[in-house]
Amino acid sequence: MTERFIKNEQFNFISKQVAWIKDSTKQHLPAGVLASVYDLSNEKILNCIPNMTASQKNILDFSKLKTVEEYEQALEQLVNYLLPFPTVTEQQLKKLFPKSKKLKLPDLSNVDLKRLTYLSWNDSRSNKKYLLYELEGQLVGIECTFSPSTKKNICSICHCHGEVTHFSTVTKAKKLNNPDYYKSIGNLICVDSSQCNKNITDDSYLKDFLKESLLK
Ligand SMILES: [Zn+2]
Repeated sequence: MTERFIKNEQFNFISKQVAWIKDSTKQHLPAGVLASVYDLSNEKILNCIPNMTASQKNILDFSKLKTVEEYEQALEQLVNYLLPFPTVTEQQLKKLFPKSKKLKLPDLSNVDLKRLTYLSWNDSRSNKKYLLYELEGQLVGIECTFSPSTKKNICSICHCHGEVTHFSTVTKAKKLNNPDYYKSIGNLICVDSSQCNKNITDDSYLKDFLKESLLK
């Protein structure tokens, strides 16, 4: 059985390195410069996942690859090692959002769960946005209000430029020096969360944001 160990955002990060190599080969760079692009990318790929086993390291050791085609093939192979987003039951959903009684999961039949870092959907009846994420092995969820207007800006989650909307969530946490803390936990997020999931190369903002939002 294939041992899955790569998360969506790590896969995106590796894809970005491969794209960088591909771009660099088209730029007629001096051989030495191009070689260092390869070396640097190989190193980033090998170090993007902490605590790997020897066999996992072997899978991510791209230093033996020579051509862009080989890199693209190796990247394609990595799809077999992607960890899918956990399946969510209606019962879990009820537990996560006890106040939203009629809340339903979105239709996931056309969604590739392996390409999700987080699962998010909008409830248009209430202007609420729901976001689920597996935080340190436990499924967590937050409910946000989002503004119906959109603009072009940088998304807080994936750090890419695109169509974003302002979203905010209320926390129970209090900060002694900041009485406005309740209001300040909000940010800009991609309108299209499937695109956001394709862009994200680092989940640290998402983790911090969720930890902060879920503080009691
Ligand atoms: Zn985004």
